[in-house]
Amino acid sequence: MKKIAILGSTGSIGTQTLEVVRNNGDIEVTALAAGSNVDRMEAQIREFRPKLVAMWTQEKAKELKARVADLPVRIVSGMDGLLEIATEPEAEILVTAIVGMIGIRPTIAAMEAGKDIALANKETLVTAGHIIMPLAKERGVRILPVDSEHSAIFQCLNGENRAQIKKILLTASGGPFRGRKKEELRNVQVEDALKHPNWSMGRKITIDSATLVNKGLEMMEARWLFGVEPKDIQIVVQPKSIIHSMVEFVDGAVIAQLGTPDMKLPIQYALYYPERRHLPGERLDFWTLGQITFEKPDMESFPGLRLAFDAAAAGGTMPTVYNAANERAVAKFLARKIRFLDIPMIIEECMAAHTARPEPTVEEILDVEASVYEMIESRW
Ligand code: NAD
Ligand code: MG
Repeated sequence: MKKIAILGSTGSIGTQTLEVVRNNGDIEVTALAAGSNVDRMEAQIREFRPKLVAMWTQEKAKELKARVADLPVRIVSGMDGLLEIATEPEAEILVTAIVGMIGIRPTIAAMEAGKDIALANKETLVTAGHIIMPLAKERGVRILPVDSEHSAIFQCLNGENRAQIKKILLTASGGPFRGRKKEELRNVQVEDALKHPNWSMGRKITIDSATLVNKGLEMMEARWLFGVEPKDIQIVVQPKSIIHSMVEFVDGAVIAQLGTPDMKLPIQYALYYPERRHLPGERLDFWTLGQITFEKPDMESFPGLRLAFDAAAAGGTMPTVYNAANERAVAKFLARKIRFLDIPMIIEECMAAHTARPEPTVEEILDVEASVYEMIESRW
């Protein structure tokens, strides 16, 4: 039986991962970690019987412990708890479905313990890709993409020579505000931004999809996963999210992966790679679909995407500034403390105030994150 551990099991990717586990019936879940949802974690423990579980705060861990006192499960907390889940000895794969840069240290710890990573937590790769990718090679572990676009690219590259990639065509839905100009974005509310046309996801990534920052993060994620330069990644808006991404090769051939928008497909593909399994759900019907349309992204109205290319070009610590500023700005927007267009404005100002340093260590990355948070707290 395949054994897995999950960071962020109560979230959107986490619960869909457990759905895949439930549907297949041949994966054992050895460890789970989540932030604060004790109710959902209790239900997951009762169904999947992990040996080790982490909640972020001591208080939540204590509450959970009392609830599952009848079961043989050990409950831990804090960063030490996350590191324990990530390195739980029996798990072969760690699913990183946690949100934000908090995933960096557990992901590295899991790789050092020899585990393959089913990676949803893109923020880790964006900020520490220069550490993660060489480490994967050194330890002989696989980074299996869970993000739908990256899974698509990974599938397109099956059996291909990566040196013959000409460019990556990263598709984007355009989010709920596609087609709007800057003036029309000034007064959009949290509720509007949380309405994604095709995907149901966690709150942070849903806002990132509305600002197109998500596509910027995905561009940097793709750059590390597939070893391509940012200039060789073209963003293609494809509003229905039917084409999940494409690869153009040196001979001009373009290979794409298509499907209905369902995250369980890339999750299942990562867990069973290179095997494909039956996945219940809707299938594409090209007769009713009729057409698939394409557009160029509007980087004027959505500067969050343009800034990602700037951050990638500067390299080193700059993607950390881009990501950390976005994480904090999105939290402030969700708390209704700033407006929608303040998100890219804050990212831009934080980037302007920073001089990129090459090849940062994990400590330096976390120091930069802290200083970006400080700057944001003092100014906005
Ligand atoms: P979510 O907000 O729904 O879930 C996040 C999970 O992380 C929750 O279980 C939460 O409890 C846990 N968590 C948060 N802080 C924690 C902490 N300090 N300690 C322990 N656990 C903590 O988020 P999501 O939408 O599932 O996204 C997770 C990651 O996957 C993100 O990096 C996102 O960009 C990426 N991703 C998500 C989707 C999607 O469809 N949801 C698609 C592609 C990529
Ligand atoms: Mg994606």
